[in-house]
Amino acid sequence: MTCIQIPGGVMCVQPTFKSGDQAPEGYLAWHEWAETQHKAGLRQKECGRCGKWKYPQELSATVDACEMQSRKGPVTLKTPVCNACAAPSNAVAQREP
Ligand SMILES: [Zn+2]
Repeated sequence: MTCIQIPGGVMCVQPTFKSGDQAPEGYLAWHEWAETQHKAGLRQKECGRCGKWKYPQELSATVDACEMQSRKGPVTLKTPVCNACAAPSNAVAQREP
């Protein structure tokens, strides 16, 4: 809640979020934001690196792919990577092939 001084009193406004907005700072604001995303039909996916659940706009373009062997042959398993994990500061000496 943000309170603004106006002539004759104080006006308090609740921050409003739109679907697709980036996550805000703060616990209560985050929950309000998450509810907005959920109502908009956005669903969280689990980041393959940190295991946290993220909304699509928090996921980076990076997708981890690893090949697994199944009875039917090799299967490529793809897991999304969140912005935090995909940030260069978190990169662990990985090079694109
Ligand atoms: Zn992550």
